[in-house]
Amino acid sequence: MRILFLFLIGVAFVSCGSNDKIIPPPFDGAQSFEFLIKQVSFGPRVPGTENSRRCQNYLISFFDSLGAKIDTMQFVHRDQITGKVIPMMNILVHFRGTDAGAKDNYLFAAHYDSRPRAENDNDPAKKMLPIDGANDGASGVAVLMELGRLFTIKKPRANIDLVFFDGEDWGESGNLDEYFLGAKYFVTRIDKNQYRFAVLLDMIGDKNLKIYKEEFSSEYAPKVTDLIWKTAAELNQKAFIDSVGYAVYDDHLSLLTIGIPAAVVIDFVYPEWHTSHDTPENCSPQSLAAVGKVISTVIYGL
Ligand SMILES: [Zn+2]
Repeated sequence: MRILFLFLIGVAFVSCGSNDKIIPPPFDGAQSFEFLIKQVSFGPRVPGTENSRRCQNYLISFFDSLGAKIDTMQFVHRDQITGKVIPMMNILVHFRGTDAGAKDNYLFAAHYDSRPRAENDNDPAKKMLPIDGANDGASGVAVLMELGRLFTIKKPRANIDLVFFDGEDWGESGNLDEYFLGAKYFVTRIDKNQYRFAVLLDMIGDKNLKIYKEEFSSEYAPKVTDLIWKTAAELNQKAFIDSVGYAVYDDHLSLLTIGIPAAVVIDFVYPEWHTSHDTPENCSPQSLAAVGKVISTVIYGL
């Protein structure tokens, strides 16, 4: 993703969601961090590589072991510069809620690919090498995996879909046509009316976690954005800052484009962004837990 501009303005809360609270099972930050470490252990998950396939198989077998229904969406992307055709795959995981009559689904998303180049690295020799993406990619996936584990301990009322996008971070800086490839494909293949809202988790593992509201989310998906930050305030999760801090191009824009209210939860102030230092050492289980507790409380309140 790319940053557009930085500004800080206050935004009023607007409440939504059910008042009938269900206590979520405890979100285990240490367990979630293990999911992050495991993804990084495959090496950079650059689309079309063996590392990427190993990560795909890991995610599919994990959610299969939880008994979830899984759909894979395979597609190809022709790189504009090299002309190479790259196979890519989104993984969509369905959890049915206890409210059997519920037709509304909610979507929670992350990207599992990691960037093919570390253009922000100080070391020129590393700028063309792929990154581990511990925060930029693996952190969001790690929280969604732990949420999936919670769903098998106690089902939420609502139907929850998790989607793992490929090809989010493929593009050369400045060329938005080559970013968000999985999300762009996804929105051509789904019925947008099935989702009441979507939440994207990206770069939420930073050990110095500070999450501002994101501008496009606040503007075009204010109810879900405010629900997340209101929940964080109720839980006294101080990493969530109740003001807009940045506008970020990310996978949520594809969802917004087809009319799904979609918010991104992202800490965009991460000095290791797109460098060889985006590693587990710069992430923490506590950060994953902070986000996991807020998002699980949102989900079990639906
Ligand atoms: Zn990135």
